[in-house]
Amino acid sequence: MAQYFDLVIRCPACIADGKDGKVPAPWYHHSCGGGLQIGDDANYRCKRCNVSSHVQNWRYACEAHESDFRPTSSAHLANAVSTAGQITSIAGRQWLLTFLQNLGDW
Ligand SMILES: [Zn+2]
Ligand SMILES: [Zn+2]
Repeated sequence: MAQYFDLVIRCPACIADGKDGKVPAPWYHHSCGGGLQIGDDANYRCKRCNVSSHVQNWRYACEAHESDFRPTSSAHLANAVSTAGQITSIAGRQWLLTFLQNLGDW
């Protein structure tokens, strides 16, 4: 069973754009407003509508580009997740290693 934790990360699209992505913040599913979680199977899951899909399929809109949903890359998402203290301190090293394996290269 994959282990899921609340998604609290810097904006991976801004990081991919060469910016720092601000401070880690919670992310919400645009179509329903539900809180998103991240699993070590490298899927995001919505706590409200239960939509679940591999992280490669998602786009991001943050305060810097509110209605402009932008992609990231596996390397930049890995950066955002591995520096997200709220996730990694609870989830631990093995969770992160499994996530990185399932993340793939894209
Ligand atoms: Zn952004
Ligand atoms: Zn949802």
